[in-house]
Amino acid sequence: MKKVTSVIIIFLAGILCFRFFLVPPSTYITKKEPFMVRVRLLKSSDKIDISSLSGCKVVKKGTDIILGNYGKDLSVRPEERSILINDQKLSVGGVTIIPKKKDTLLVNKTRYRGEINILNTPSGLDVINVVGLENYLKGVVPREMNRFWPMAAMQAQAIASRSFAAGKALGRTKEEYDIRADTFSQVYGGRSSERWRSTKAVVGTKDKVLVYDGEVVPAYFHSCCGGYTRDVSEAWGGRQKPLKKVRCEYCKLSPHFRWRIKIPQKEIQEKLNKKGYSIERIDDIIEGERDTSGRMKYLRIKSGNRWFEIKVDEFRSAVGSRTIKSSNFHIKKYPRFYLFSGYGWGHGVGMCQWGALGMALKRNSKEKILDKYYPGAEIKELSKVVK
Ligand SMILES: [Zn+2]
Repeated sequence: MKKVTSVIIIFLAGILCFRFFLVPPSTYITKKEPFMVRVRLLKSSDKIDISSLSGCKVVKKGTDIILGNYGKDLSVRPEERSILINDQKLSVGGVTIIPKKKDTLLVNKTRYRGEINILNTPSGLDVINVVGLENYLKGVVPREMNRFWPMAAMQAQAIASRSFAAGKALGRTKEEYDIRADTFSQVYGGRSSERWRSTKAVVGTKDKVLVYDGEVVPAYFHSCCGGYTRDVSEAWGGRQKPLKKVRCEYCKLSPHFRWRIKIPQKEIQEKLNKKGYSIERIDDIIEGERDTSGRMKYLRIKSGNRWFEIKVDEFRSAVGSRTIKSSNFHIKKYPRFYLFSGYGWGHGVGMCQWGALGMALKRNSKEKILDKYYPGAEIKELSKVVK
């Protein structure tokens, strides 16, 4: 019996030795997730600080050619047709920075998993994080949803975010990046923003995406729909059956369900001027046509004897999409200001996050939540859909 035990101990010790001493560290570094995403973190930068405790290896982008090994701190700047790293000139259009050991990279004080691509463009350096989809999501879910919300809502968010990112990545293979790290795509804060509960939601839904007709659904989502979500064809054109208008009766608890704001006419005029609209004064603003979900398509602005027509999405982006929270609003004119009163926050397409919270509080599962906001889509494993 003793003999058997010693044989087992020697065998286990052998495995440990192999694991820790014989396998070169690079084996761990190069181990990648099967599905990678490229997230643009910064655009047109003139200086980037990168550091890794283990030091950094710099290779020519898209190759294995090593351009240099550096200590833990790197300062990267653009120069004509080359990139300067700690004042060393590299005559390449792009580099990939890889931490030497299984480590994270600090980019301008935010920590990221994976590798960093730096591209030299005419307007400066673009910084792209190349990271496994699952690790990427760990830095998205806590930024897109309150991490103290019920697990069913957070898991629905994780599946929606995974589908959104995978859908974009599959459609942009010829570009330098798949998605942006801000609200234009979905907010990503890297390793620095990972939290235990949101990571649990990502891990618990690993590889799960929404699929319709054999394709991954670009699962758009927004904060609060205000009563009805919006058909994608009415928002940006194109058709996707799961991205159709649905009635939502779960987001009334949101502070954004109903909103009002007074804005002085002078402020509206100045903000429109900044966006390039030459309007000297605003005499009136008239509501335009609405889509089937009640969201307005355009506004008409009177300035002297002239009338301007402006798309509501452009008006919101000029005045501030955090000020005019959605395109479902009414306007009332007062002597010194305009009163905007509306419903919901965000573009209105796909899942209503506050609605997902409302459903989860009523004990609905993640499957029920996703079926509500992406009707007809099935939950499948990405690795089986993309081969
Ligand atoms: Zn809603």
